[in-house]
Amino acid sequence: MDMKTIRRQAYTSSDQLKEEAEVGAQSFSSHGKKNGIQISILVSVLLVCFMGIILFLVMSGVDRSESIVTMAGATSRGGGGGETKTVFKFTNSFTNRDKTVGGLLAASGFDDQSCLSRYRTGLYRRNTPHRPSRHLVQRLRSHESLQKRCGPGTDPYQKAVEQLRFGQSSTIDQDCNYLVWISYRGLGNRILTVASAFLYSLLTNRVLLVDRGEDIDDLFCEPFPGTSWFLPLDFPLKDKLANFSITSEESYGNMIKNKVSVDKANYVYLHLDHAYNDNDKLFFCEEDQRTIQNARWLIIRSDVYFVPSLFLNSLFVDELNQLFPEKDMVFHHLGRYLFHPTNAVWGLITRYYDSYMAKADEKVGIQIRVFEAKLDPPLLDQIISCTQSEGLLPQTVSHEIKLPKTNPKTKAVLFTSLSMEYYEHIRSMYWEKPTSSGEIVSVFQPSYEGYQQSGNKDHDRKAWAEMYLLSLTDKLVTSSWSTFGYVAQGLGGLKPWIIVKPENQSMPYPHCRRDVSMDPCFHSPPNYDCKKKELTDTGNLVPHIRRCEDINWGVKIVDQSRL
Ligand code: GDP
Repeated sequence: MDMKTIRRQAYTSSDQLKEEAEVGAQSFSSHGKKNGIQISILVSVLLVCFMGIILFLVMSGVDRSESIVTMAGATSRGGGGGETKTVFKFTNSFTNRDKTVGGLLAASGFDDQSCLSRYRTGLYRRNTPHRPSRHLVQRLRSHESLQKRCGPGTDPYQKAVEQLRFGQSSTIDQDCNYLVWISYRGLGNRILTVASAFLYSLLTNRVLLVDRGEDIDDLFCEPFPGTSWFLPLDFPLKDKLANFSITSEESYGNMIKNKVSVDKANYVYLHLDHAYNDNDKLFFCEEDQRTIQNARWLIIRSDVYFVPSLFLNSLFVDELNQLFPEKDMVFHHLGRYLFHPTNAVWGLITRYYDSYMAKADEKVGIQIRVFEAKLDPPLLDQIISCTQSEGLLPQTVSHEIKLPKTNPKTKAVLFTSLSMEYYEHIRSMYWEKPTSSGEIVSVFQPSYEGYQQSGNKDHDRKAWAEMYLLSLTDKLVTSSWSTFGYVAQGLGGLKPWIIVKPENQSMPYPHCRRDVSMDPCFHSPPNYDCKKKELTDTGNLVPHIRRCEDINWGVKIVDQSRL
């Protein structure tokens, strides 16, 4: 019942009362008149009390429904659309600090309903023991101001776009300079390269603008308050973005080769694809960074997580050390800062989590990256052997066992794969045979898409939801080389067990290896010492950059204190 209805009813009732009193006045004596007045006062008092009770019930009903929503959090309201009007309030146990992920996210400036996931991840995630540094938090807030001051729709942006449109040279501006990220490759690659580009824009004070590609804006909310990070659709080079490549004459590598000055260029294209050439790789050198920073517009295409090599550039090292005192936390913090599932994806995540994962005592995620939908029996053996020998899943026995009297432990196993074969075998295994420990193991997989369909909206939504669900598990098994798995481990703050890639078609031993850090692997680092101008092993220059466990020519960030 709404307040208007209550008021209307109150008015009608007292009018009726007045009418009744008037009728009474005409037909009764003066004594009767007095009695009538007393009765009407009594009725009025009763009516006021009655209205008070109704009002109280209505108000407490509103309060109750709000607190139910609060307690259930996204549980009951994950579905997309952002249409609901309910106010999100925080209970004592869910603090402002949880809401903002330890201060990582700006506490205001967003429309809460348009992105339900932003402030509600804390209702699903274990508390991360890794807090962002105060310096990172400060830099994020000042970067947000830069994005707002110079982003789309502002005068500086308009001015910079005019310069681009008219082909004028792209000299650096005092305040507003830009980095445009091109959408490229699978979703895992895209997430890792946006994070890398963002860190680079933070280090060089550039506004980051993100090309929507087919569906980026359908997957991720805006990370910066009061502005948009999406590249406007009328961006002058929009139609050119898909065609940039290693041969583009605007690439930094080709500018060096052709002795073209950055100062005279309209913009500079940074080709950081895994198959880049030696000139492109000079991007990571100090001297070249100084030159590149003279351009107001930089455009970047990459399919690799190039963060580790930024840690080897002396121009950035001091700042990076302050931003990330725990060195291997780069993607963990930046991923949680940047990537908030849109309401449609949040619905997929929360409905699935609540149905299959929420009640389990332990959640295990297993990500099996395949390139063929049909079963590879050695890989199945490898998965079973790895998970059982590492104590992630219990052994099965062939005889029935007596279950413990107390409630047995429950284990939820989330499989993700393009194929359904591995999941089906393991699910059947735990149905057909009891576990030696008496644990109850339930195995499930949200989708079996068969083959990669990057750019297809529904397919990418599922991929993003599954990466996120994997990140909500307690223990994680991933596949070698897979950026899909890297995103899950980084967001979740999990050091995964990696299924070792078979070589020469023989079963590898060990079947899996524990990763040394949760930060992703840079698959194609430049093996070049910029100072000595000679080839070098960049996995051997500083203690916190090491060769990766899953790709021995890749490098990754580790934290010495956690090895
Ligand atoms: P990578 O190729 O393993 O490094 O990961 P990417 O995410 O960059 O590209 C693989 C793409 O294939 C994903 O983005 C999805 O589109 C699809 N894909 C691969 N594995 C899975 C999976 O387990 N679940 C879903 N839904 N999609 C997957």
